[in-house]
Amino acid sequence: MKDSLNREIDYMRISITDRCNLRCQYCMPQGIKQTMMSDILTFEEMAHIVSIGAKLGIKKIKVTGGEPLVRLGCCDFIKMLKNIEGIEQVTITTNGVLLDRYMDDLITAGVDSINVSIDTLNRELYQKLTGFDKLDEVLQSLKILTNYDIPVKINAVSIDLHEYGMRYGIDVLKTDYQNLIELAHYNKIDVRFIEMMPIGYGKNFETINHQDFLQQLKKDYVLQEDSTIHGNGPAVYYKIDGYEGSIGLISAIHGKFCDSCNRIRLTSQGYLKTCLCFNDGVDLRTILRSGAHNRDELLEEAIKKAIVHKPNAHRFENKEDISEDKNMYMIGG
Ligand code: SAM
Ligand code: SF4
Repeated sequence: MKDSLNREIDYMRISITDRCNLRCQYCMPQGIKQTMMSDILTFEEMAHIVSIGAKLGIKKIKVTGGEPLVRLGCCDFIKMLKNIEGIEQVTITTNGVLLDRYMDDLITAGVDSINVSIDTLNRELYQKLTGFDKLDEVLQSLKILTNYDIPVKINAVSIDLHEYGMRYGIDVLKTDYQNLIELAHYNKIDVRFIEMMPIGYGKNFETINHQDFLQQLKKDYVLQEDSTIHGNGPAVYYKIDGYEGSIGLISAIHGKFCDSCNRIRLTSQGYLKTCLCFNDGVDLRTILRSGAHNRDELLEEAIKKAIVHKPNAHRFENKEDISEDKNMYMIGG
C-alpha cells in the first residue's frame, strides 16, 4: 500500500531475535541485558503479521536480528514465509558465523539472497570490533557460498578503520577498504558500504562521509554507474572494469534516500517501526495477544494507520530530533 507521500511500502524487515553470537561495538557491545523469550514473538506470530502485511502489499521480507541464525528454526521460518501468499522474496542478513552449519538449510528453505556483514578483513581489528576471532571462519563460509547459485552481498559499515585500528594499537592501512572491494574482483559478490547511522551504540562512532568516499574510490578505480537492479534497497552501485561483483554505497546520512523509502520494520518484540530515526509505529504484540475476536481486523487497521503516518524523512542530521532509543540489534538494521 502507499503511504501519505505516495511511497509504495512493499518491504518488511523482521528482527527475529535480539540475541547475537558477536558483540559489535557499534551495535551490541558486551554487557547487554537480554530480553525474556516470552516477550519475543513466536515464528507463528511473526508469520501471522506477515500474512496480514502481504494483504496490504508487502512482497519482500528481510530476516535479520540480532543474529538470525542463532534462533533455532530460522530456516524453517524462512520456508514458512516463502509459503505466504503474496510474499515474493525472502532474504537474510547474517554475520556469517553460523553459515557453515546452516547454508544448505537456507538454500533448501528457498532463501532468495544472503547478505554477510564483514566490516574489515584485518583479523585483529575484526576481533576488536566484533569481540570474537571469527573472521577466518566467516571467510571460509563465504568462499563455499559463492559455489551456490544465489546472490551474495557483503555489508560493511563505513568507519575509519585506520583510526579505529590506532585506538587499539593495530596497524590498519588507510586503504583497508580496498581489501573488502577485492572480494568483488573474482567472485560474483556485491560489496556494499553503509554509512554508520547514529542509532544506539552507533552514536559513539563517526561515519565516513560517502560523498568523500566516492571521490576517493574514483581516484582508486575507474568506476561506472551500474543501474541494474541488485535488490530492494537504496544502494547506489558502481562497476569496476574486470570485477565480477559491483560496489554499492548506502548513504543514509550524506545521500538521503527517504523519498524512495519502501520499508517498514518489525522488531522481535512485535513493534512495527515506520522509520529508523523515530520511535513512531505500533505495538502489534499487544493486539496479537489480546484475544480479541476481531484481532486480524485490528492488526490490519493498525498496520495501515502506521504506514499512512510513516514519517516523511529521517532527521539524523539533528541528533536531538532522533526519538528512537532502541538499539540496532533490536531493530535489525
Ligand atoms: N547480525 C546480522 C548482521 O550483522 O548482519 C543482522 C543484524 S545487524 C543489526 C544488520 C546490519 O546492520 C549489519 O550489517 C550491521 O553492520 C548494520 N548496523 C548495525 N548498527 C548499525 C548502525 N548504527 N549504522 C549502520 N548500520 C548498522
Ligand atoms: Fe550482532 Fe549483527 Fe549487531 Fe554485530 S551487527 S552485534 S553481528 S546483530
